[in-house]
Amino acid sequence: MYGETEIAIVGAGPVGLALALALSRSGIAVRVLEKRPGLSAASRASTFHPPTLDALHGLGVLAPLLPGGVRVDRILWRQVEDGASASLDLGILAGETGFPFRWHREQQDLTPALLAALPEGCVRFAAGVIALAQDAEGVTLRAADGSTLRARYAVGCDGASGALRGLAGIGVETSDYAHRVLRLLTPLDLRTVVPGLDGLGYLADAEGTCSLLRMPAVWRLIFRIPPAMSDEAAMAEDHARARIARFLPEARDLEIAGRDVYGVQRAMATACRAGRVLLAGDAAHLTNTRGGMNMNAGIHDAMTLAATLERVLDGGEDRLLDHWAEARLRVVREALLPRTDSRVAAAPGAEVARMAGLSPAQALDWAREASMLDIATAGTPA
Ligand SMILES: Cc1cc2nc3c(=O)[nH]c(=O)nc-3n(C[C@H](O)[C@H](O)[C@H](O)COP(=O)(O)OP(=O)(O)OC[C@H]3O[C@@H](n4cnc5c(N)ncnc54)[C@H](O)[C@@H]3O)c2cc1C
Repeated sequence: MYGETEIAIVGAGPVGLALALALSRSGIAVRVLEKRPGLSAASRASTFHPPTLDALHGLGVLAPLLPGGVRVDRILWRQVEDGASASLDLGILAGETGFPFRWHREQQDLTPALLAALPEGCVRFAAGVIALAQDAEGVTLRAADGSTLRARYAVGCDGASGALRGLAGIGVETSDYAHRVLRLLTPLDLRTVVPGLDGLGYLADAEGTCSLLRMPAVWRLIFRIPPAMSDEAAMAEDHARARIARFLPEARDLEIAGRDVYGVQRAMATACRAGRVLLAGDAAHLTNTRGGMNMNAGIHDAMTLAATLERVLDGGEDRLLDHWAEARLRVVREALLPRTDSRVAAAPGAEVARMAGLSPAQALDWAREASMLDIATAGTPA
């Protein structure tokens, strides 16, 4: 028996833990049930956008984390053949956010900080949820060991598996968009090789692109791989070296400290609410890693949902939750999925010219959208 609480959260990833902390800071009783025996240590998200930094600052977990991350003030686009380049200074966002920059740090460094800030015993590990019952007063969750947890609302933050989504009978729309990405890690400081590079660069030649992301200990090099190529062939030394030589000829012999291939999908839940069950994070939306937005969007789901639940538990109308669910789904459909869709990116070779040609007002709009400042608070009750 796990007992009773006001809000039950399924999944202790960044979204579930951020939601738990936001609710707990508002004095709302919350419990998290997590399937794994501990936090995931997988290397996934790297990028934290300004509104996410604002949110983490508000939760009181950012200050100790900031010194261990990489602050990125400028984004670079560079055409390999002729060296033509364009750059955008994120400082133009000063006045719209307390953090007018991107910040690069591993996702698995955030989750322990969130967990440590939660009250003792708030998260129950090795407690995968396998059953759900709803009635007029609340929900009852049952975990694999037979224990139950009763709550007024349950929030599925259980990632792409969408266990609670399925139990609540919410559908998911997927597309055949899936593709794969080769990720190489190098300790070489690529700022010594690429003129004008700060912490994020998009290199292009006539046939494709290579993204460069500076992380605290290494740089990530990201390449899209052709559908017919196997993971093994993509990671093979000769293929990896050929890719590096194409985009970074001066650094063709750089040390490769790690390599992997990951798949990219595109999916969204058909609703973010069914009765007393709500969805946030990957359980509600999956996107390409282009632009580094999906975890950020999940944390924005969490912040806006916490504000809405606080109002509802305080006597506000239940339909505030419908408004929240509709607003967040609209964000996914109209902003998150289109912005992360590499099929709508400018053709290789055109990106530098496009970015170099932006007027100051267009550059500001671009920076707002790329930083998610225009969508982060959608769904917050008025
Ligand atoms: C290589 C890579 C790079 C990425 N880069 C970025 C980036 O730069 N920026 C960005 O914003 N996003 C990025 N993403 C996406 C980001 O990693 C995800 O959006 C993020 O992890 C979503 O968090 P979440 O808490 O919703 O889900 P998850 O992190 O998947 O957490 C879900 C949790 O639920 C648990 N769970 C599952 N089923 C159950 C159950 N039945 N009962 C209880 N618990 C359950 C799981 O064990 C897990 O701990 C990247 C992803 C990948 C793969």
